[in-house]
Formats: sequence, C-alpha cells, structure tokens
Amino acid sequence: MTTCSPLPARADVLIIGGGIIGCAAALFLARAGLAVVLCEKGHIGAEQSGRNWGWIRRIGRHGAELPLARRALQLWPRLQAEGLNMGYAQTGLAYLCKDESEQQARRAWLKTHGEAAGGDIRMLSAAQAKELLPAAQGRFAGALFAPRDGRAEPLMATRALATAARAQGAVIMENCAVRDIELQAGRVHGLMTEKGSVRGRKVILAGGIWSRLLCDRLRLRLPQLGVVNSVHYTAPLAGGPSIVAGGGEYAFRPTRDGGYAVAHWRISQTLLTAQHIRFARQFLPALASGWRDLPPRLASPAQPWAARAGWKAGKPTPFERARVLDPSPSRRILKAAMMALERDFPVFRQARIVGAQAGIIDVLPDVLPVISEVEDIPGLILATGFSGHGFGIGPAAGEAIARLAQGLKADVDLSAFSLSRFSSPGKGRAGHSRQRPLML
Ligand SMILES: Cc1cc2nc3c(=O)[nH]c(=O)nc-3n(C[C@H](O)[C@H](O)[C@H](O)COP(=O)(O)OP(=O)(O)OC[C@H]3O[C@@H](n4cnc5c(N)ncnc54)[C@H](O)[C@@H]3O)c2cc1C
Repeated sequence: MTTCSPLPARADVLIIGGGIIGCAAALFLARAGLAVVLCEKGHIGAEQSGRNWGWIRRIGRHGAELPLARRALQLWPRLQAEGLNMGYAQTGLAYLCKDESEQQARRAWLKTHGEAAGGDIRMLSAAQAKELLPAAQGRFAGALFAPRDGRAEPLMATRALATAARAQGAVIMENCAVRDIELQAGRVHGLMTEKGSVRGRKVILAGGIWSRLLCDRLRLRLPQLGVVNSVHYTAPLAGGPSIVAGGGEYAFRPTRDGGYAVAHWRISQTLLTAQHIRFARQFLPALASGWRDLPPRLASPAQPWAARAGWKAGKPTPFERARVLDPSPSRRILKAAMMALERDFPVFRQARIVGAQAGIIDVLPDVLPVISEVEDIPGLILATGFSGHGFGIGPAAGEAIARLAQGLKADVDLSAFSLSRFSSPGKGRAGHSRQRPLML
C-alpha cells in the first residue's frame, strides 16, 4: 500500500500512526463524514499491528477491556461481511491448563468475568479438551474455551481498514513522519510533518511505542516501555488443530493459508533503555512479579523510540531515522516454544518454519491502554499503550476513539483508560494481571 497524495492543508481530525488503532479510527471518522488525514512514518501496519499473533479474544482480559472486546466481536464479522479482507474467522480460542492450579486460576477468571464477557465462555474437562483438540498427545487437565473468539491476519486486517478508510475519503499518508503536534493558545492547532504542516483542531496520537516521544515534546508524562515478542510461521500443515490456543510454553493460531503462527505463551524480552530509570517506580510491581517471563534484552543505545525528545522544531526527527521497527526475533525463545508444541502436538514435528519476526510492544504500568482526551491540551486524544492486546479490540477501540474525536460520548465505558490515572497517587500501578505481566 503506497500513497503519494499531497498533504491537505487542513482536516477535521488528524491521526498519527497507521497501526490498527489509527486505521480503525480513520475508518469510523470518515464514515461519519469527517475530513481525516492519517500520517504514518513508514507503512500501514508495519509495526505491532502487522506482526502480532492475530488473536481476537475476550478470554483472560481485564474486566475494564471486556466492553471493548465484546463490541469488537460484533465489529470484526460485520466489517468482513462488508467486504474488508481481514482473514477473520471465529475459530474458537482456548487457554489450555496443564494442572489443577492453572484450572483454578482460569475458573476464578470465569467466575469474575464470565458474565461480562458474554456468557458463552466455559471450562472444559480433560476429556472435552481432548475432543476439541484431537491432534493433542499431551495431557491437559482442562481448558478455558471461548467458542466465539478467533483470529484475523494482522497485516491484511490493518491494511483493509486503511483501504476502507481511504475509500470513504480519508487521506492516508505513508512515509510521512509527524515531527510535532502544534498548539495555539494551549490547544491543538495542527501537525508539523516532514511533508509540511496540516491544520486541524483534533489530533489522535496512536503512535504505538513512539507515543511517549511526542508526549514528551508536549511535557505530558506517558510512562511507556518496550517489550519484544517473537513469532514464527509454518508452511501449510495437514492435521493440525483448527482453533487458536495457548498454554504452558506455546501459543498457536491457524493462519489463513493452512499454516500456523507459533510463539512462546509467556516469554517476551524487556528492552532495557534509559526510560526504565525514569519510569522505574511505576513499573517496579509489574517487573518484580513478572521478571522470569520478561528476560532483559539490551537495546542498542541508538533505539530511536527510546531517545530524548530534543530535536529542533522542523528538523528531522527519530521518527524518520526508523521508518519501521524490525527487531530480530529470538530464535532461542521460539525454539523452546516449538519443542514444547511438538511434545503436545506431534503433528508439528512435520512443520516447516517459513518465517519469523518480532515486534516491540508498548507497555504501560497497569497493562491497560490510554484511550483518553487530554484535559490540559484541548483537542488532543491519546490512544496508545495497548500493552500486547490491542489487535483484537482494535476495531472497537477505533470506533470509540472516533466518537471522542467528534465530541461524542463513547458507547463503551473508557474511564479505566484515562491518562490522569498515572498522575493520581495509588492509581495506574501494575497488579491487574498478576497471572502474567503481559497478556497477548
Ligand atoms: C509479537 C506480538 C504479538 C501480539 N499478539 C497480539 C494478539 O494476538 N492479539 C492482540 O489483541 N494484540 C496482540 N499484540 C498487540 C497488538 O499488536 C498491539 O496492541 C496493536 O497492534 C497496537 O496497535 P497500534 O495501532 O496502537 O500500534 P502500532 O501497530 O505499533 O502502530 C503505531 C504506528 O504509529 C506510527 N508512528 C509512530 N510515531 C509516528 C510519527 N511521529 N509519525 C507518523 N507515524 C508514527 C508507527 O510507525 C506505527 O506504524 C501483539 C503484539 C506483538 C508485537
């Protein structure tokens, strides 16, 4: 997908970032008849949104995200039925339990959230889990199963949203880094991009791991760190599982072409940067409870997203130095995942690995996103920090953000996602998801 349209002089809403969040917001805004310009420094879906596992789930989510997850469950099939080619399928999705203690944890989630999640998610016995996954040789104590959860193809889905937004009149600019959010009399006035200025009174910042940099420019404190997660892909494989599932050491999703995306269920790598020192206090609980699953990985000192926001106005910025973040996948972690998968599902011994990639996840201290207007800067909306689980809820988040940008109340409760929770003492601390620091 390439775009070479000139940058318009003005628009109603300006969006920074062509991931699933920015593209979904652009589509809903364009459908509402607003003039939209979306600026992406690299390519649509080239960072997290095109590299993720492709899971669309309600299962295991924090209660605050369930209204968005339920809404997303309506939107995915609806968008696909409208002709967006997203590779969406309601395959069913399971969290596999190896032992009784895992079962208990899943049962506890179901008891607390089952109703709010939609009422159809259920615990399966060992025999029922085996029936659902006939290819499994490993023994499972049971599983938490969501028959209506499923999957989509990450890059295809994100591009389909952008294409649909453009068809509705949105201007989608690629290779167009935003250098600054411009203010006038304290409120949003427009964007300064590498291709010139565009005026607009509403700006949505959906910049993934880069959002902190632009927030720093505005003296807004966004405590955001980066975590690398790796995934690899198999060639088409006959006789494998037909649902999305994860547990123990592996996670898999059947891909559209008959292969699988396979990753490690628990382990991601903490990218150590100077930002860790700055945000240490807020992240300490998350890192302390999850350090085993988040081994450190040294980020090169030149990691542009972790840089200081000290560039001169109108000059080239870190955004232009790294059009697309493309960290190397961890072969060691992926090998551990594959070995465990082969033990439980021998059919994967025949799998041929045809590719691997990694993405940098934008994590906030309580592992929930910020979807919020910024009180101190009228016109600015933050939509970032989806902490490893923003793809599945992407369409619903985009719809909610589009309503905020129109000055309307979102249809779902967004109060848990305010930016101000990080400045109020005792709020915004980690601890919501003690079972796993990251819930992809
Ligand atoms: C390996 C991996 C597995 C995952 N698995 C799942 C999963 O199974 N299910 C799930 O729900 N979620 C999953 N996630 C998380 C999910 O991918 C993200 O939460 C979601 O894609 C975030 O979308 P986004 O649009 O906020 O960010 P991104 O996709 O990161 O997009 C942000 C975009 O903003 C652009 N940008 C930044 N700054 C600027 C600027 N100044 N000017 C112009 N453009 C800019 C960037 O280039 C980027 O393209 C996973 C993530 C990873 C990495």
